[in-house]
Amino acid sequence: MTPQIELAGVNKYYGVFHALKNIDLSIAKGTFVALVGPSGCGKSTLLRSLAGLESISDGSLKIAGDLMNGVPPRKRDVAMVFQSYALYPHMTVEENLTYSLRMRGVAKAEAKKAAEEVAATTGLSHLLKRYPRELSGGQRQRVAMSRAIIRHPKAFLFDEPLSNLDAALRVHMRKEIRALHDRLGATSVYVTHDQIEAMTMADHVVVMKDGVIEQQGRPLDLYDKPANKFVAGFIGSPAMNFIPAIADEEGKSLTLELGVIRQPIAIDHQIQPGSKITVGIRPEHIGITNQGQGNFDVPVAVVESTGSSTFITAATTPELTIVETGRGTVQPGQTIGVAVAPAQVHLFDEASGVRI
Ligand code: ATP
Repeated sequence: MTPQIELAGVNKYYGVFHALKNIDLSIAKGTFVALVGPSGCGKSTLLRSLAGLESISDGSLKIAGDLMNGVPPRKRDVAMVFQSYALYPHMTVEENLTYSLRMRGVAKAEAKKAAEEVAATTGLSHLLKRYPRELSGGQRQRVAMSRAIIRHPKAFLFDEPLSNLDAALRVHMRKEIRALHDRLGATSVYVTHDQIEAMTMADHVVVMKDGVIEQQGRPLDLYDKPANKFVAGFIGSPAMNFIPAIADEEGKSLTLELGVIRQPIAIDHQIQPGSKITVGIRPEHIGITNQGQGNFDVPVAVVESTGSSTFITAATTPELTIVETGRGTVQPGQTIGVAVAPAQVHLFDEASGVRI
């Protein structure tokens, strides 16, 4: 089937600055895609290129099979939803919703009916006569989405739409947007710097850095098998621990270098003998035992509990973060044993950061 959105070999230069580097991305109809990455990685540039707000320097960009290079935004049939909502302040909710239809020559009564239908889907029916200033942040966000929905676009493009909302509302709206996407059978591209948002909302996550797609795939595949150290550190919270290590002479085990602690550990596959490795272990994959009963012992420096989980910082070099479910069983100053299962150890080439 023709992908709903397809980018092949896309590059974008701002003057001499290379903002998008050889981007290949194929998005099937009905898919929810999240673009994530640190500030400046190019995710907004990519989204704006899809919308036609930026022109790409080379490569091809297709929407529903049609080449869009050079096609102006209003002819692309995509809808952008911004964090700023971009609502017209002097118009009621209903007028905000009907405006684009009226501009395209849809009759007044028909536009009103369409607004009422969309408002019913997004829970705005009782707010149609209000002005944006009379709405809460979440309600404004719903109007912004309704205004996109009413046009039946080929794709929804979200630019950090929830970053103005408080934490609780963000969690709520994240579910609401995803449910709407499913109900409409929409194709959505969603930019966020929040990896939790990306992981929980999307079918397909694209991780970017410095204009490059570092990895793309299903959320849990990125968590289980990060392609490199950057993705490993970016996906997952708290972040993965990285520990320098050296492979033994047969390449069948490793020695972790945790400051004064030099600790051999088993690994589950053969590696280059004597090679320098960065070992990645997720905080939630380190088990806690009594002193002397794990793989090795570490002194506990800090213990922080949220009630549902407890974050333990071990006073090693580099420091290790360990997550325990519940209120926690250890105290600062105590020495604990830590246990690591070979299957949960990630190995990266120290020089390139690439997964081994
Ligand atoms: P953020 O999360 O901070 O919004 P981002 O990943 O969305 O970041 P972009 O806005 O896509 O990043 O910017 C990517 C890079 O391109 C940045 O280094 C930025 O400084 C640069 N850039 C963006 N717009 C322009 C422009 N109009 N002229 C020159 N450079 C630009």
